Amino acid sequence: MEQRLRNLLEQAGHRVTEPRMQLIRAVAAQDFRPFTGEALYEGLRDTGLGRATVFRTLRLLQNLGALSRLHLDDGCQRYVLTLPGASENGHHDRLICRQCGRVAYLEQCPMEDSLNRIAEQSGYRVESHHLDILGLCGDCLAAGNDQ
Ligand SMILES: [Zn+2]
Ligand SMILES: [Zn+2]
Repeated sequence: MEQRLRNLLEQAGHRVTEPRMQLIRAVAAQDFRPFTGEALYEGLRDTGLGRATVFRTLRLLQNLGALSRLHLDDGCQRYVLTLPGASENGHHDRLICRQCGRVAYLEQCPMEDSLNRIAEQSGYRVESHHLDILGLCGDCLAAGNDQ
């Protein structure tokens, strides 16, 4: 994951400095758990990375397709890593646990047939879509956190 993020930045013509590399490591360590820019910045304080740099780099990674935005009920804007390869076809269907925040990407699109039907009925040419399924993951259910 680290290598993937690094390559993306370099391919886009950005120098990957040591502070940026530390940010990349911190992002990769989130491992499909949503995080806020603020929390990431807090964790990187000791490295001397500025707040503006952290937020700018996160936006950059989002523009490059490595991160996507997540909106949960608490209104906090979070980032979450995308699945490698998903950015190429614009595909980000996912399950989100509202308790622990874990994100699981769906390997198969559950929407294809419906989209074909929608396109037919509406006369639209469907170009992209994005499905967020909210709920509780198996671990949270087993732990009885189903509030
Ligand atoms: Zn959970
Ligand atoms: Zn889909």
